[in-house]
Amino acid sequence: MPDDQRRRATRTVRIGEVTVGGDAPVRVQSMTNTDTADALRTAIQCAELARAGSEMVRITVNTPEAAAAVPAIADQLRRMDVTVPLIGDFHYNGHRLLGDFPDCAGVLAKYRINPGNVGHGKKRDEQFAQMIEIACRYGKPVRIGVNWGSLDQDLLARIMDENARRPEPWDAVRVMREAMVTSAIESAIRAEEIGLPGDRIVLSCKVSGVQDLIAIYRDLSRRCDYPLHLGLTEAGMGTKGIVASTAAMAVLLQEGIGDTIRVSLTPEPDGPRTQEVIVAQQMLQTMGLRAFMPMVIACPGCGRTTSTFFQELAQTIETHVRERMPIWRDEFDGVENLTLAVMGCVVNGPGESKHANIGISLPGTGEAPAAPVFVDGAKTVTLRGDHIAEDFTAIVDAYVARTYTRKCAAQ
Ligand code: SF4
Repeated sequence: MPDDQRRRATRTVRIGEVTVGGDAPVRVQSMTNTDTADALRTAIQCAELARAGSEMVRITVNTPEAAAAVPAIADQLRRMDVTVPLIGDFHYNGHRLLGDFPDCAGVLAKYRINPGNVGHGKKRDEQFAQMIEIACRYGKPVRIGVNWGSLDQDLLARIMDENARRPEPWDAVRVMREAMVTSAIESAIRAEEIGLPGDRIVLSCKVSGVQDLIAIYRDLSRRCDYPLHLGLTEAGMGTKGIVASTAAMAVLLQEGIGDTIRVSLTPEPDGPRTQEVIVAQQMLQTMGLRAFMPMVIACPGCGRTTSTFFQELAQTIETHVRERMPIWRDEFDGVENLTLAVMGCVVNGPGESKHANIGISLPGTGEAPAAPVFVDGAKTVTLRGDHIAEDFTAIVDAYVARTYTRKCAAQ
């Protein structure tokens, strides 16, 4: 990457108790899909997202009823002992809602403003200014969140006019990308002119195309020093959404671009909203940028395996780790760095198991019915019989207890 390309933002922004940008770790965000006016359901989902590891949660604030419910959501979260910063997502009427509902404006930790959805012409400037003035009054940071589905049409027309006057006009894709970046940067400059300090501004420019997202954020990161929120908008459902989000964000994160992320997955009907948090964490952890929970490495299996036992064991271990993690996180420093390997046969089993903190190599076709266990690279025991899963999880629990520092003991 050329030296003149910026890596992480040097500015930092405080969002509630969470720092974004600078040397802070890349933060995981999420967004609820409940009706915000239903304060209890929204608070419950915010708590679920926070407990899954979301470090900030965004809620839509689209109606007077939603704005009126925001303080009740915050109260409910306090009663549930959840301290996650709440971000209000505003479109069209944010200036009015923030002005009419001061408790909402005061309780939110950040306002997301979409410069394409604050009105047109003179009204756009006035309404944008009203929101920024309220942010100044309450000492709140703002994310200026451009989205290509709601790009400021006046600005796009201006950029197109400028393009038409070029000796060699850009193609439509480049014009659109330029309009996105310009919208974000000009809005940030305008916010600073109104009085919002630069260290209270985060920018995002979300699109649904992988190559567009990469190009836009590279450009944005070269042209400003605000912390950047990354996300592929409308990523889609299931594996498609996960792959598209990862393909786009991993390239940028690898280049040091991006200070917070959100994975915009469409959940399956009645599927857990928390999946977007888990995917975001796994993206950061598999890239080696952060550690959230022990990683379970498992081989894919092949014709050398005679049963699904190793898949079931991998699943059992994964579930065990996920269930134990809330307790381990409170009790043991560094447990999130633990690596476990569950392998299907002798081909790669012992080798991969030795690289993990704890690994098990199950017997493949024609191999003796024995499963050697490796701890920190050395074979310690060979498991046999009907209780391999229970025996292996007991080995994992014992390893955690003796290897990681007990937090209470250190106090
Ligand atoms: S470790 Fe063995 S079972 Fe697993 S994929 Fe490799 S050869 Fe197949």
